[in-house]
Parts: sequence; structure tokens; C-alpha cells
Amino acid sequence: MTASSTRFLGVLLALLAVAFVLPPTVHAAEPAAARKLRIIVFGAHPDDAEFRAGGTGAKWAKLGHEVKLVSVTNGDIGHWNMAGGALAQRRTAESQAAAKRLGVASQVLDIHDGELLPTLENRRLITRTIREWNADIVISHRPWDYHPDHRYVGVLVQDAAYMVTVPYFCPDTPPLKQNPVFLYSSDGFQKPYPFRPDVVIAIDDVFEQKLDAVNELVSQVYEGGANGSAEFVATVPPASDPAARLAWLKQRWEGRQGGEAQRFRETLIKWYGDEQGKTIKFAEAFEICEYGRRPSTEDLKQLFPFFAK
Ligand SMILES: [Zn+2]
Repeated sequence: MTASSTRFLGVLLALLAVAFVLPPTVHAAEPAAARKLRIIVFGAHPDDAEFRAGGTGAKWAKLGHEVKLVSVTNGDIGHWNMAGGALAQRRTAESQAAAKRLGVASQVLDIHDGELLPTLENRRLITRTIREWNADIVISHRPWDYHPDHRYVGVLVQDAAYMVTVPYFCPDTPPLKQNPVFLYSSDGFQKPYPFRPDVVIAIDDVFEQKLDAVNELVSQVYEGGANGSAEFVATVPPASDPAARLAWLKQRWEGRQGGEAQRFRETLIKWYGDEQGKTIKFAEAFEICEYGRRPSTEDLKQLFPFFAK
């Protein structure tokens, strides 16, 4: 073959690769504000993504962006008096109901609760899941957390960061053209270093909606999940009195999300300005993971399009 025909063949192959190998929905060159954002939130269990990013997820969804909450395990030991397939089905249904309240998509992966490992197989699974969602933003636990499943979700998502762009890692699933922005959801752990709030989002406007979503996670919030007990259930208003139940839940979640707003007040003021920042009651917070794309402040304003212009 001559040099020019080799070059021609090379160009042809490159064109074919662009036409058939790259996903048609890749949109790296477009400015974020001009199109729908795609967000995927990983939690270890069917409640974690809802608890940590449900409010922000609802805010994205309201603006027409596409959000998916993924539970990496099926939650099948997350109860004090039931377990196995029946619990996995129950918790999957709870997560789906919560997602419906938030206006987002939901997926529960079929891995046993308490048994998640940072294996190559799972790295591939997480990589494919991020690629299939064509994510701009990926949120997960930090890899320092009390629960081994939380820790390994953090590790697996870190391991998938960057690899989602490598074409011959999982070559059956088209790579992302651009590394998404990876973020950690907030936690209170101090070692090896405490959570750093890079972006804090006011969720006052969707607090009731988040509460309605959390209200669907009955096995966890009203029955206490893995650490519940008959004694605990006896302290909770009964299912026959849904208004009292919701009021009970609201009080707890006002404390939880209000605590986040207080804890990250300085960052709220940085993003929302002095006047608004001081009055925000409820918040969710996120930290940038260094292994994803490194967003500028301007990028973050496009990815979290909730701040006043
Ligand atoms: Zn969990």
C-alpha cells in the first residue's frame, strides 16, 4: 500500500470510528447552560442518594435536567427483622416511589447489602453505568465512612473517574468524551480529612418535596432499618396516622438539613451572597473530587444553575 492510500485508509477508519464508536449524545463542546445536564448520584443503599442529594436532584429535575439515583447494593440486610429478596424488593419499590416524588430516575443494582467489594468487575459495572447515563456530574460517598459499602462506593466511583473516558476499558460501552465533574456528598467524618464544602445548595424551596420522598422510605425512616427495633417502632406515630408520621419525620429532617445549612453557612454566603446566604434554612453540600474534571467557579454555576444571575 502506498503512503497516501494508507493515509486515506487511516482517515476513513477515523471517520468510521466517529460515526459508529462514539455515542451520538456526546456533547462535550456545548456550553452546559445551553443543554440538559445529566446527573448520576451513587449511594450504597436504597436511601443514601435520596438522603444526601434528593433536594438538589429535585431542583435539577424541575429545570428539565436528567437525574438518576443509583443504589449500588440492593439493601437486602437493611432491616432488623426482615432480610433477603423480599427486603430487596421492598426497598427497591421504596426507592422508586421516592424518585417519583423527586421527579428523577432510580436504579438499584443487584449486589448484596454489606458485601460490596472494590473489584474489577464492579469497577466495570460503575464505569458502564456512568457512561450509559452519559453523565456530566457524578456524586458519591467519600471513601471514608463508617459503612464498608459506603467506603467502597467511594472507591469504585473514584476508580471509574477518568476510566469512563478510556475507550478500551469496557470497549463494549462507548466512552465519555469528557471526564464528568465528580463530587462527594457530605458526611461528618474527620479522618483522614474532614469533608470540604465546595458547593452548598439551598433546598428550602424543595424541602417539603424531599420530605415526601423520604416519607416513602418506610423501612428505614419509620422502622429504623438495620438498627431499628420493636421498641423504636413503638415511638413512631403509626402508619394509620400519616399526618402525625409526616410531622414526626419533618421535625427530624428540619434538624438534619438545618444542621447542614448551619455547618456550611460560610459557603452558602459565598455562593448566595450575604443577604440570602444568611437566611437559608436547609442545605445539601458537595465536595469536588480531584479525579474528575476540575470545574471553575463559572463551570459550577452552570452545573448548579440555581444561583441568582
Ligand atoms: Zn447506606
